[in-house]
Amino acid sequence: MDLGIAGKTAIVCASSKGLGRGCAFSLARAGARVIVNARGAEGLHATAEEIRATTGAEVIEVAADIASEPGRAAVLAAAPSPDILVNNAGGPPPGDFRDWDRAMWNAALEANMLTPIDLIKATVDGMIERRFGRIVNITSSAVKSPIAALGLSNGARGGLTGFIAGLARQVAAHNVTINNLLPGAFETDRLREHMDEAAKAARLKGIPAGRFGDPAEFGDCCAYLCSAQAGYLTAQNVLIDGAAYPGTM
Ligand code: NAP
Repeated sequence: MDLGIAGKTAIVCASSKGLGRGCAFSLARAGARVIVNARGAEGLHATAEEIRATTGAEVIEVAADIASEPGRAAVLAAAPSPDILVNNAGGPPPGDFRDWDRAMWNAALEANMLTPIDLIKATVDGMIERRFGRIVNITSSAVKSPIAALGLSNGARGGLTGFIAGLARQVAAHNVTINNLLPGAFETDRLREHMDEAAKAARLKGIPAGRFGDPAEFGDCCAYLCSAQAGYLTAQNVLIDGAAYPGTM
């Protein structure tokens, strides 16, 4: 399927590894020019080279902390008028809320709520003017079904989700869509770091698909949300979790 986004410019935040990398690959395969970002320059360069070699797409590397003001400025300097924005950053650490001080809450809010809002603020009016924009926020299945130990994530991402629900409806008439993509358990470094074999086996029992997700299939779902054809699909929280969430809707 031709996604109709060849030649469009896409910023994909936090994309040297995992879900962001999957999104960058899929958008590049669809013909987009992709700005990739991560803090570690070496890993970012390796991913960028792989995307170039596999897809032939133009890939621009911006090694910077997306949760910092200078980091966001560097990414926006590389692509001041993107057609597609994929918001992503590392997730906050798990723990007990009694141990979290104000600095930890501020870091979670900065990375997982305020950074996406800042990047949307800087880019959405250009999308409105050009009558094309696709924004995807990588959040978490925990927004729908909270994981107690991930309270920092539940809180910060919940705030972003509420904000997006209002904004998406303000921009929909201009062919600018904003959706959140909610990963369940995907086989990425984050999952590998947070789970030992016993924890993985226990988690798998709760996933009807019987496996962890592949970042490549997450990327393809993101690319579809960014496609020309998906212009009527907006203001949604799209769960991609192998049917782990047990509700009817
Ligand atoms: P991952 O495999 O650890 O990859 C994270 C990527 O983000 C790396 O490229 C990392 O590179 C980059 N990154 C992290 N912090 C950054 C920052 N401040 N600025 C720029 N780049 C940054 O993680 P993942 O599994 O893909 O997870 C991505 C997001 O989805 C996280 O927020 C996570 O909480 C959420 N999520 C994941 C799952 C899952 O099953 N994997 C489930 C639910 C939610 P550098 O370290 O070099 O910066």
